[in-house]
Amino acid sequence: MSLQTRVIDEFQQQFGETPQFIIRAPGRVNLIGEHTDYNDGFVLPMAIDRAVWLAIRPRTDNRVYVTSTAIDTPTDFTLDNLENEGQHHWSEYLKGVTWALQEAGHKLNGWEGVLASDVPVGAGLSSSAAIEMATARAFTAVTPDLAWDPPTMALLGQKAENQWVGANTGIMDQMISAAGEQNHALFIDCRDLSTKSIPLPAGTAVVIMDSATRHTHVDSGYNTRREQCETAASFFAVSHLRDVTTAQFESKSAELEATHDNEVMRRARHVITENERVLQAIAAMQAGDATTMGRLMNESHKSMDQDFEITNEQLNVLAQLAQAQEGCFGARMTGGGFGGCAVALVAADQATDFATAVSQAYDQQTNLQSSIYICQATAGAAILGD
Ligand code: ADP
Ligand code: MG
Repeated sequence: MSLQTRVIDEFQQQFGETPQFIIRAPGRVNLIGEHTDYNDGFVLPMAIDRAVWLAIRPRTDNRVYVTSTAIDTPTDFTLDNLENEGQHHWSEYLKGVTWALQEAGHKLNGWEGVLASDVPVGAGLSSSAAIEMATARAFTAVTPDLAWDPPTMALLGQKAENQWVGANTGIMDQMISAAGEQNHALFIDCRDLSTKSIPLPAGTAVVIMDSATRHTHVDSGYNTRREQCETAASFFAVSHLRDVTTAQFESKSAELEATHDNEVMRRARHVITENERVLQAIAAMQAGDATTMGRLMNESHKSMDQDFEITNEQLNVLAQLAQAQEGCFGARMTGGGFGGCAVALVAADQATDFATAVSQAYDQQTNLQSSIYICQATAGAAILGD
């Protein structure tokens, strides 16, 4: 049963009628550009065919009530009395978006419904941003004067995640969930939120490989990386590492290491070289050059392993196994890191064999059970039939 059918059925059972709105907000896979978003840099994610679905109807009072097919306790709150319970309960994502919309001056309408998702949790495919963008979309469905504008809603979702939930994430996840485009990756300049659709090289497929390891909530490793980047940016006397070129970095890297430490130097090197790789990746994708794109993905993985240190042993195994397979142009860990998924660019006609070979080898080597799927690029958050 598709998730769309599932949320409609569940809604029917709980509320005794058909839902008025069906909303879909996708998860994402990042092809290249990791931990560059909060450095005002460049990213190249795509929205995927795994998503958060909501079936809803408006309420006449000021309440939001949502059940999840995955979690027993519902989200239930009133719009004029938002309380952050700080328990990492899923309701905080919905409350956070509500709070951010209200802070922006919007008078909201209540709604109720059912949520279902096939974005794996904590796997680096951003189930949290998908929930945030689905919530924002739900409010636009039931609130007459609230318009849907992807960058505006992405910024409010990020504010919710940063200030309400307490995870200091960048803007990439919300932007791609809000603004994704079918059959395309999306180049995002995280400074001005301008976007450009980038087609996948002809004859290639994007394969997501879940290591079956997970990052934790509001990961302190993530927040530490952000602080180190800020330290490096102030050393270079810029607001964000986006403004440092590799040539500038190289001429001052020894001094950065001497005045701070080797770790800060390596963190900066990752971000600065990763931004350059994204720009090269876009040129390669536009030229249909899968070989160069793959090489850049491999280099990105190495940089995340050695300089930014956000991979884990299993993700390294997965990337290495993938890179060694026939038909694979390149592979890298994807998402915030410390567990989760890797992504590979593979010759489309070899993708099924690739998936089988990598999953067998990985499961044998690690005693874990990977899940590997060929994914499609989809559109961003939408009200169906809109
Ligand atoms: P991710 O990398 O998937 O974004 P996060 O830790 O940022 O990981 O967000 C995961 C959180 O999102 C979960 O702990 C839960 O609160 C919420 N979530 C994800 N999927 C669902 C779901 N199907 N139902 C309810 N909440 C969900
Ligand atoms: Mg998240």
